[in-house]
Amino acid sequence: MSLAILSKPAFRDFVARLLADYRVAGPVAHNGSFIFDEIRDPSELHMDYPTTLLPPKKFLLPIREVLFRFKRQDGGVLQAPPETPPTVLLGVHTCDLHAIQLLDTVFSSGHYDIHYVNRRKKTLIVSIECLGPCDEHSFCKSMGTLTADEGYDLHLTDLGDQYAVDVGTQAGKELLEKYASAKPADKEDVQRLNAVISAKWPRFSYRLDFDVSELPSVLELGMKSPLWEELGQRCLACAACTNVCPTCFCFDVKDEVELNLVDGQRVRQWDSCQLDEFATVAGGHNFRASRALRQRHRFMRKGKYILDAHKHLGCVGCGRCARACIVDITPVGVFNELYRQQQAGS
Ligand code: SF4
Ligand code: SF4
Repeated sequence: MSLAILSKPAFRDFVARLLADYRVAGPVAHNGSFIFDEIRDPSELHMDYPTTLLPPKKFLLPIREVLFRFKRQDGGVLQAPPETPPTVLLGVHTCDLHAIQLLDTVFSSGHYDIHYVNRRKKTLIVSIECLGPCDEHSFCKSMGTLTADEGYDLHLTDLGDQYAVDVGTQAGKELLEKYASAKPADKEDVQRLNAVISAKWPRFSYRLDFDVSELPSVLELGMKSPLWEELGQRCLACAACTNVCPTCFCFDVKDEVELNLVDGQRVRQWDSCQLDEFATVAGGHNFRASRALRQRHRFMRKGKYILDAHKHLGCVGCGRCARACIVDITPVGVFNELYRQQQAGS
């Protein structure tokens, strides 16, 4: 929509003013790593963080949430949980921005998820351009998520002593006008921004050995690959990979009843296709009983099934699952190995 310039001190003032009216969350230091957390003061923010343990998804799809409370008395009483406060998510990287776009599509089409959608409507996103890879596990350039031209309300690019602020939505424009002392970008600012953006691309490398557009067919052709058995032997079914993933959205729903057998609550919490019991159904039948089948299912979703269903890839190349997996099962390793096997066989 338009481009503005915000000095670093003015950005701190912007955040301080937001805190008066919004729940504000962003990247903060935590035990030698970084996490997305609510902040109380702008000084807690680390806008130049590499990556976070969990993605900002947890503010839109909480790890555990009460859907409603109930009472099995007086004909049954339902009570909605407290409303989520208006929230500003600061410092969202573009890979996570792409992941949120996928979640928006998933939860607002087909079975419309009122809990997610209400929370999303109250959330403003101030994302930030990545100027260097998080670490050796990132493969955002291969997945096409190294930048984004939509999905944010405001998008920052660090120009050193100031931020270039791209206004993405009317809500972002109003946020900037009300809470920030920004100035419109002039020709020199635009030239400086272009120089920063051009300089960033060579810092990232392509890590897939093929173009990402081939990924669905690489996976389809790899359905019967012996690789899945090999991964099944290594995998510990710990679910760390899916727990840290910004695009995984499977959940479980349980009723928790109090000891008085009258009051209770319905709770939703994250689940994982990598756990033994995930696909266990009535009669104890498990339709994905082996770790090999579960690994195959996970990677098929990341590179094909979710794309087929929702027109977005199910992997944004953030590398969190690769960092989390203690037996070194990684998307880049899996996708490239399938491709290598197919090249060797053709
Ligand atoms: S993190 Fe690694 S070991 Fe754990 S479930 Fe995922 S692939 Fe298996
Ligand atoms: S599959 Fe791994 S690399 Fe891809 S989005 Fe999920 S956590 Fe990130």
